[in-house]
Amino acid sequence: MKKYIGLEEMKNVNCSSVLGVICNCGEVSRKQITDITGLSWGGMTKIVNKLFEHGYIEEAKCEKVSGVKRTPNIIRVCRDKHFVIGLDINRVGFGAYVMNLAGDIIKEYSSDLSYCDKEELLQAIFDFIGQIADEFKEKKLLAMGVAMQGILDVENGISVRFPHCPDWKNIPIKDILKEEFGVEVFIEHDPNCMLYSSQHEEESENMLLLRMDNSVGMAASVNGRIIRGNGLLEVAHCIVVPQGKECRCGEKGCLEAYVAPCLSKNGVNKQAVYELVEPLAIFMNNMVRIFHSDTIILTGKLAKYHEIFEKELLEKFHQFYDGEEISVRFVEEEERAVRGATLIAVQGAIERLRI
Ligand SMILES: [Zn+2]
Repeated sequence: MKKYIGLEEMKNVNCSSVLGVICNCGEVSRKQITDITGLSWGGMTKIVNKLFEHGYIEEAKCEKVSGVKRTPNIIRVCRDKHFVIGLDINRVGFGAYVMNLAGDIIKEYSSDLSYCDKEELLQAIFDFIGQIADEFKEKKLLAMGVAMQGILDVENGISVRFPHCPDWKNIPIKDILKEEFGVEVFIEHDPNCMLYSSQHEEESENMLLLRMDNSVGMAASVNGRIIRGNGLLEVAHCIVVPQGKECRCGEKGCLEAYVAPCLSKNGVNKQAVYELVEPLAIFMNNMVRIFHSDTIILTGKLAKYHEIFEKELLEKFHQFYDGEEISVRFVEEEERAVRGATLIAVQGAIERLRI
């Protein structure tokens, strides 16, 4: 870690924090900016002027009080100049949002995906993003956030494995996209993106999110921070039933061995769902005890069928767990991953601001 922060870096940090305050507050006065950031009036004024100059912010329209124009002193972020792209790349398709720094979704995209090998998958990713970048080429795209399925090395921006793509190995996807599209790229596990999106909607600071479809992914926040790290929270092969159902990994009784059979091409397999209830309740109990979660969000394709097992699951869960009240909710919204990826891109664009 660097011991000293140079003056130039300090300026950038201050620019980022001022823009962050303006984005978070919606509309804000100069006085409020100094109060929140602790900057001097002079320091704040310099930064605000710079942000005006580069088109990041504008004066909010001033009200006319009895015909007299008041001095405009409320600032807000420009909604039509700078944008980010958020992407969800998963086994069956792509989703994307284009968002401005105020958090408005400007346009949504989606597309099915089929591929046989690495080349086809990469080409499909390029084509999909290329079409969006093309549409917004007159505007300024600052960053791209990518929610990705499979095994990821987030720190190095590497997609280690992608489902059903055998020759997809250790692809430096962050660098590839950065070079192709010339923007800062942020890669994140899809459950983390979903949790990031949920953090914008829920009060809870200690949340657990389980995504259940053909496999199972988990994300957790503790004291408002998302737990991150390569290989952490890979829960699919936690054993929930000793000598239980056979899993594709070769072991018996993994959580995935109970989740995976629940969904098939023909819809839901009710028998498999009933068999999932107890192992899932045990798993939830264990995780809540480790992470002190007060909210559990169950999402993914299986959440669509919550009506057939929600009651039984909650009963079982409460049999095991009789501590403080925990809110367990099913969320069907499929766009949570792409929304989270886009919000991560907004955050990243603000933090990496260099003007
Ligand atoms: Zn397994």
